[in-house]
Amino acid sequence: MAKKPFIKIQCQVCKKTNYFTRKTKAVGDNKLELKKFCKWCRKHTAHKESKK
Ligand SMILES: [Zn+2]
Repeated sequence: MAKKPFIKIQCQVCKKTNYFTRKTKAVGDNKLELKKFCKWCRKHTAHKESKK
């Protein structure tokens, strides 16, 4: 059974991991970079994938 890669989505401001997602083919090798709401910063911030 192949493991499905999980990605942690980390706030670039407070460095907290707020979201999890699975890598999709659409993303490919590119680093995920998203604007998402961070409940710690209480605003939309840049989030990036963080491999463990
Ligand atoms: Zn944050």
